[in-house]
Amino acid sequence: MLQAQRLSSRHARRSLQRLSPHASVGVGSWNSSRGLATPSEPYDLVVIGAGPGGYVAAIKAAQLGFKTACIEKRGSVGGTCLNVGCIPSKAMLNNSHMYHQTQHDLQRRGIDVEGVKLNLPVMLKAKEQAVAGLTKGVEGLFKNNKVDYIKGDASFISSTKLSVKLNDGGETEIDTKNVIIATGSEVAPFPGGAITIDEEQIVSSTGALELTQVPKKMVVIGGGIIGLEMGTVWSRLGAEVTVVEFLGSIGGAGIDDEVSKQFQKILTKQGMKFKLNTKVLSAEKENGKVVVKTESAKGGQTETVEADVVLVAVGRRPNTEGLNLEAAGVKLDEKNRVIVDSQFNTAAPNIKCIGDATFGPMLAHKAEEEGIAAVEYFKTGHGHVNYAAIPSVVYTHPEVAWVGKTEQELKADGVKYNIGKFPFLANSRAKTNLDTDGFVKFIAEKETDRILGVHIIGPNAGEMISEAVLAMEYGASSEDVGRTTHAHPTLSEAFKEAAMAAYGKPIHM
Ligand SMILES: Cc1cc2nc3c(=O)[nH]c(=O)nc-3n(C[C@H](O)[C@H](O)[C@H](O)COP(=O)(O)OP(=O)(O)OC[C@H]3O[C@@H](n4cnc5c(N)ncnc54)[C@H](O)[C@@H]3O)c2cc1C
Repeated sequence: MLQAQRLSSRHARRSLQRLSPHASVGVGSWNSSRGLATPSEPYDLVVIGAGPGGYVAAIKAAQLGFKTACIEKRGSVGGTCLNVGCIPSKAMLNNSHMYHQTQHDLQRRGIDVEGVKLNLPVMLKAKEQAVAGLTKGVEGLFKNNKVDYIKGDASFISSTKLSVKLNDGGETEIDTKNVIIATGSEVAPFPGGAITIDEEQIVSSTGALELTQVPKKMVVIGGGIIGLEMGTVWSRLGAEVTVVEFLGSIGGAGIDDEVSKQFQKILTKQGMKFKLNTKVLSAEKENGKVVVKTESAKGGQTETVEADVVLVAVGRRPNTEGLNLEAAGVKLDEKNRVIVDSQFNTAAPNIKCIGDATFGPMLAHKAEEEGIAAVEYFKTGHGHVNYAAIPSVVYTHPEVAWVGKTEQELKADGVKYNIGKFPFLANSRAKTNLDTDGFVKFIAEKETDRILGVHIIGPNAGEMISEAVLAMEYGASSEDVGRTTHAHPTLSEAFKEAAMAAYGKPIHM
């Protein structure tokens, strides 16, 4: 299966080389005298949405010679990821970690620092600068690749004609042979409308990136990746954070149970509180505070928790309203996701959909891979995304990262496997760095030793997981990894030793 996928992707690459003779076919710019495409000279491809799925698809299409436009209504490119997601959250995570480390960790390393103070306005500004730099960078890539960037709100008139309400006023129509819908997702409201988000005291992840004061007490509703990342930021900056989670574990879908338990222990040690198996009923503003009413997930007695700020992090929903999809013949499922087949085709033959607006994990790198593959399908009929090897990362400290199957999934599927585990406590670099929380866990098929999943909690897990992804892409066994030289002293030696433990024995434990 994997071999077949590899062959098809290699074949696709070869086909692309043959079929893309021109760098571009004279794609005009939005401001050029040529203006927009016309019915007699339509675009080859219009991408709706300039998030990581859409902008990558647009650039790839232009590189392959398509006359391409990308329509974005936000006023800046980069989508959720660059503007209110991955990038600003990682800026806050990195800088709040440095603040916390300076306060609580430097002394034992022989670094005495006095008068450490938080300057939140500067920290927020650093985050904004990171966002501005990267969004401008993507605009530059559009220019360099001759993608027409159209600022406005797009909707379908037909499968080959779009209407765009321009951000600068007025409306225009655009003709195109093909369309990629990459409209992403938005914050999901609290189910049943019991909580109203005001983005000041009751915030979504977007408001949680902009708080101008550190709340004394913060309640995070939802112990998934976004809730934990944002909760950690404000906890490090001094808030007393309680995470309320309906399920009995944290980390969201796809996390290995053993990792989740260890993760909760570490975050608890860092000062966060958890109320698991607990359902939030309401959150209401009263006398300057927010009163959160909860009950046990199984029902029963209610409890109240008071907070200065409540973060609602209960998920995201696809952004598919207002596109007039009926006019194009595109169909949605019951969750308002665009229905696509394995080549991202919607019910309309010339329209594909990728990223958060359709199936699969809501992750920037998943959207990017789909963007490239969708364009390649349009161009050559071949594309490649391996959904069995899409990593997930939680950017806390330590980081948590995984790819492939969890132990609980394999048990449920009746698959026989070997486990190899190696703690960072036994890794020389982690010990040297005084950063030893966590472990690497390999899961390999019993009969063949093929790697089925890798789960890491520990320093740099988010970088290290790429090694597991690459190994899985090539159908590697744990022995393949265990017999590969890893530089010494590095954290990645823990990765190698966990692989060794899966088929034999590690050396340093
Ligand atoms: C706080 C937070 C942290 C995150 N951290 C990570 C992370 O660390 N790693 C990770 O992989 N993922 C992360 N994500 C998820 C990631 O941001 C999304 O999975 C990713 O942005 C999806 O990309 P996309 O291109 O499908 O859609 P989006 O990024 O949502 O972009 C869609 C774009 O389409 C535009 N649009 C919508 N409708 C129209 C229309 N009608 N006309 C014109 N434009 C339109 C929108 O304005 C938007 O800019 C995070 C998300 C959040 C909220």
